[in-house]
Amino acid sequence: MFRRTLSAPGLLRLVRGRFERVDDPVSGRGLTLADCLMSALAMFGLKYPSLLSFERDARGAGRVRSNLRSLYGVGRAPSDTAMRERLDRVDPSELRGAFKAVLSALQRGKGLDGFAWLDGHYLLSVDGTGHFSSKSVHCGNCCVKEHKDGTKTYYHQMLGAALVHPDLREVFALPPEPIMRSDGAAKNDCERNAAKRLLRDVRREHPHLRLMVVEDGLASNGPHIRLLQELDMRFVLGAKPGDHADLFETADASPMTRTLTTKGADGTRHRCRFINGVPLNDANRGLEVNFLEWTGTKPNGDVRRFSWVTDIDIDESNAESLMRAGRARWRIENETFNALKNQGYGFEHNYGHGERHLATVFASLTMLAFLIDQVQQRCCALFRAARDRAGRPKYLWARLRGLFLEFIVPDWETLYRAIAFGHRTELVPFDTS
Ligand SMILES: [Zn+2]
Repeated sequence: MFRRTLSAPGLLRLVRGRFERVDDPVSGRGLTLADCLMSALAMFGLKYPSLLSFERDARGAGRVRSNLRSLYGVGRAPSDTAMRERLDRVDPSELRGAFKAVLSALQRGKGLDGFAWLDGHYLLSVDGTGHFSSKSVHCGNCCVKEHKDGTKTYYHQMLGAALVHPDLREVFALPPEPIMRSDGAAKNDCERNAAKRLLRDVRREHPHLRLMVVEDGLASNGPHIRLLQELDMRFVLGAKPGDHADLFETADASPMTRTLTTKGADGTRHRCRFINGVPLNDANRGLEVNFLEWTGTKPNGDVRRFSWVTDIDIDESNAESLMRAGRARWRIENETFNALKNQGYGFEHNYGHGERHLATVFASLTMLAFLIDQVQQRCCALFRAARDRAGRPKYLWARLRGLFLEFIVPDWETLYRAIAFGHRTELVPFDTS
């Protein structure tokens, strides 16, 4: 029933293999960095609300130590202090290999079949989000906002990227890119600078992946579009009338603009207009894009309007697909950041801040735990059976953690079967005698 690679044991084995290659500047006294990283991943995988409660369980009961070994391969779990100290020194970019290993396995195992959208391209949604903010706790890598009253707010943000599909609920996260203090204070600047690093890394690590980048209106500027062209990435980027008055004027005035109207089953009138080969704006006369605008008018008179620029030639046959690609951008907010913040992953909890990298390493590992769950959701029937039986994700995490704490669990299959089919007899109660 378990697929060899695209199941919890296969994915965790892959990840552990990558963690064993991470440069360990401390390396000492029997505690390996791989065990520290896997312990943190277990904490996020099991959706522990705090490092302290995880440490209490992981270093307390013998059955939990045994379960950490059988499920996550953790030989020796670190104390909370040791975990913080060791992970604080890990350069977050060293975790990229684990993401890549999971994504490559997903691709090889046909898990991405059916996930491409237009012309074999995968939609890559990119957006920024915050994961830490404090008036007092801070580290050497915090961004700082200085207030008029002399106080400061310390914060961390990252740029997330995920493969998304308009019709499918799974999203597959790529390694997030931390937004650095040196990226600047303005939201635009820092997201753009982080995006340069993120997209170059994605292209280097996946040189042949056909990608169509979907982003919001901040991205529809000349330098960013040239970067996408250089990296051989297609794009559908938001374009608002306020930022792109020239484009809208051209579309209004040109006889080349074409308009399609259709009526939806719910009575909504859809009006789509598009024009190919127009300059992005006055400052970028030489940079031609294709412009698409979609207006939906509901029977009650409510109007919604969206517009984008793209490098795909628009015609009657692909206009709707392009519109849906553009709208799938939201999945990184709704399906990714929202899930990380509100479905037990504790993305905004403070598991420990550290002096250098800890906050970012924890956020990246949270993202990795989420990726592993999403791959299981798409590819592992047993995981889906357990999830369906549990009902909502947070009930599944509660069942997982409950069994993990109370029984000796020999392997993932037994654990999921116990949740999905109530086969508890296969779990060994802990002998307290
Ligand atoms: Zn910090």
